[in-house]
Amino acid sequence: MSQQTNDFTKWYIETIQKAGLMDYTPVRGCIAFKPDGYELWEHIQQEMDRRFKETGHRNAYFPMLIPENFFQKEKDHIEGFSPELPWVTEAAGEKLEERLALRPTSETMIGHLYSDWIKSYRDLPVLINQWANVFRWEKKTLPFIRTSEFLWQEGHTAHVDEEDARKETEQMLSIYKDVVENFLAIPVYDGQKTPSERFAGAVDTYSIEAMMKDGKAVQAGTSHYLGTKFAEAFDIKYLNKENKHVHVHTTSWGTSTRLIGSVIMVHGDEQGLVLPPTIAPTQVVLVPVGPWKKNPVIIEKLDEIFAALKAKGIRVRLDDSDQSPGFKFNEWELKGVPVRIELGPRDLENNQVLMKARDEADKQTVALESVVEAIENELQVMQKRLLEKARAFRDANSHTHIDSLEALKAHLAESEQNGTIPGWILAGWCGDDECESNVKEETKFTSRNIPFNPPMEKHTCINCGKEAKHTVWFGRSY
Ligand SMILES: [Zn+2]
Repeated sequence: MSQQTNDFTKWYIETIQKAGLMDYTPVRGCIAFKPDGYELWEHIQQEMDRRFKETGHRNAYFPMLIPENFFQKEKDHIEGFSPELPWVTEAAGEKLEERLALRPTSETMIGHLYSDWIKSYRDLPVLINQWANVFRWEKKTLPFIRTSEFLWQEGHTAHVDEEDARKETEQMLSIYKDVVENFLAIPVYDGQKTPSERFAGAVDTYSIEAMMKDGKAVQAGTSHYLGTKFAEAFDIKYLNKENKHVHVHTTSWGTSTRLIGSVIMVHGDEQGLVLPPTIAPTQVVLVPVGPWKKNPVIIEKLDEIFAALKAKGIRVRLDDSDQSPGFKFNEWELKGVPVRIELGPRDLENNQVLMKARDEADKQTVALESVVEAIENELQVMQKRLLEKARAFRDANSHTHIDSLEALKAHLAESEQNGTIPGWILAGWCGDDECESNVKEETKFTSRNIPFNPPMEKHTCINCGKEAKHTVWFGRSY
């Protein structure tokens, strides 16, 4: 397997293929999720879905095909998405009167329907989420991170006023942050996107941004306040308490299967995947070692442990295949199984097992009678440890002392020379689009977001040196 440090992308692609998460298909940019890859999505989906429902949202489903004229109704939206749209122009051997787009997102279809569904203030708020596939014909693709078809959820809500809609936008971003940090063990910076990085048609876009092990950023979730833009375009009005027809305020928010790619790029190592216990398809693997076939008590004991773990809802596998222990260790490490238990004749004599956490170098000795509690405890400890390790890595590569374009270029030259990752920088920005685009042109660093809680205030713009209006994270991104 390629080394992470030499060619990160190559390492990533080899790892997800060898671990059996996905396969390529003859359709460019469209991948197949194999069961171990899809199960990662199922765990993310279940956790998100639980959180959405707890906050009053319900799921619905909308069509995948969207009439062309819907896109003409919101100018920024069509400009933002039209280059990436695949079209259906023919069906049953006949040319269609109007082209139909494969949805890149569903604001337009949902806006069209909400104008019918919403009549009075009594109908509000509308809190709906959709789990679906969407299409964006990307030029450069990378499995899970950027594909032409991907899976996601899109929330679409409508509210009586700006205050209520903004509260929703913030609430959903904070749910995303909580799930990504505590369920996926990926630390994120939450904040607001600059105008040039906003969702096409949004008034304000907020994001959570995660740093991968190669120092690049992944936008891990976004939440948009859409104001009355889509309500005006699709005529979504309601009768308020004063008996007046007014436009609703809408929001939308989404996370996608990019989160799978992020988990791999944040936690993986030279041996393969490192999966947080919460989402690992197999959380514990039991491996008999030594001449175990001559000693049936070993398998009996492992069967007991297996049953006890299963009864506690832990996803466990017993590997009693005839491969060598070394082969099995490699295989399960490649697949990122969080905890491995080894039991051989000598361990049995001593009434103990060996326990190995995927992210730690050393094995622990555990008394046979307390093995189940020890595993339960290790799964919880590992979950927190992965977040702490990822946070330490991100913090070490978040630079706050680079305050000019020259200093950034020097930093990039230095990282290149030392073979280290450039990471991200926290810098001031005057608010001028041109300054932002010049930084991008000269360094490929794009603005990630304006963090809600920057570790320090910045006083001058990184590009022009004038007074800074905002403190911004910049970095290279996927
Ligand atoms: Zn400037």
